[in-house]
Amino acid sequence: MTPSNGNGFPSNYAAARAAFMTAAAEAGARLYQYVHPSASAPDGGTLSCDVAVLGRADARKAFVAIAGTHGVEGPTGSMAHTALLRSKLPQLASDCRLVLVHAINPYGFACHSRTNENNVDLNRNFVDHSAPHPANVLYAAVHAIVCQSDYSHEQHARQIAALHEWTAEHGADARNQALIAGQYSHPSGKSYGGRRREWSNRVLQQITDEHLRGIEKIAFIDWHTGLGRYGEELLLCFNEPGSPEYRQCEQWWGRDRIGTQEGFDGARRPAYRGLLFHGLQRFVAPAQFAGVAVEFGILSNEAQEGIFMLDHWLRFGDHADVPAAILDDVRRQVREAFTPSDPAWRQSVVVRSHAVMEKALRGLQAW
Ligand SMILES: [Zn+2]
Repeated sequence: MTPSNGNGFPSNYAAARAAFMTAAAEAGARLYQYVHPSASAPDGGTLSCDVAVLGRADARKAFVAIAGTHGVEGPTGSMAHTALLRSKLPQLASDCRLVLVHAINPYGFACHSRTNENNVDLNRNFVDHSAPHPANVLYAAVHAIVCQSDYSHEQHARQIAALHEWTAEHGADARNQALIAGQYSHPSGKSYGGRRREWSNRVLQQITDEHLRGIEKIAFIDWHTGLGRYGEELLLCFNEPGSPEYRQCEQWWGRDRIGTQEGFDGARRPAYRGLLFHGLQRFVAPAQFAGVAVEFGILSNEAQEGIFMLDHWLRFGDHADVPAAILDDVRRQVREAFTPSDPAWRQSVVVRSHAVMEKALRGLQAW
């Protein structure tokens, strides 16, 4: 098995996992496996969320990073974690611990899909499921456009045109609110947050209990690809603006980067529900928790929605009469969209992801 297909980016989940575990062992990290109790990889292989921990047991600060919240975006975070472990960077201050979480959504990673084994978008699952789930009335209006059971080039072009038309009429704010914010009414739909805590959600709390107990200050990164300029990082901070944690992020990564309004086609940032960021923030309380979701830009937002239509069709569509070559091509399109094979994109992401982590680690030492 080749561990990667260029610039340290793993070509699949099994290769990613192997490279991460090898790098962790060679760095002297302690490794913990959280094996999925029921789901398995398409090839029948084990699905596991793996955690590498470096640093002293009595550390008061921790750098925590998560790869694969959205499974299909997993190779980028995996590459970043493995590269960090291979670098000489973990010269941690004595009061800092490194906690790298690999493939928190292993099913999505292994299947090259955004969502998990229940089609839940893990990054919308951290709501209070004992309360009524938030309504997203706009989503119902676009569900039929983005989720179709048939596929052909013509059909796909019609869906994209229909979404374009809907956006032209209602605006990019409405499109983002409909398709990105999160919805809890359509289990086969886009950005579905689920009706209960998913396995990955519970595992994240277990990881917190086992590896972050007693920690007082946490610098956090959740790796994604999607929003922002091609090959460049876009930092989405979900700390309360003006809070001490938000100000830490400004110090570490720059005020302009943290305060950016980019990434949404000139529209406002959607009112996200159930983010992993906020779930983890609750799990680690009362620790101070400062951090960002790091996005690396790929396609335009509109083109990404086209790819999500394909992701949906692969999961739920009618494939009975579809030639294998077309199925393979659609799968390739989805993978390629979220981890472009373009060497320039990859080189940029290697350099920039390292720089983002370096700033966090330096900032954490001074905090
Ligand atoms: Zn993502």
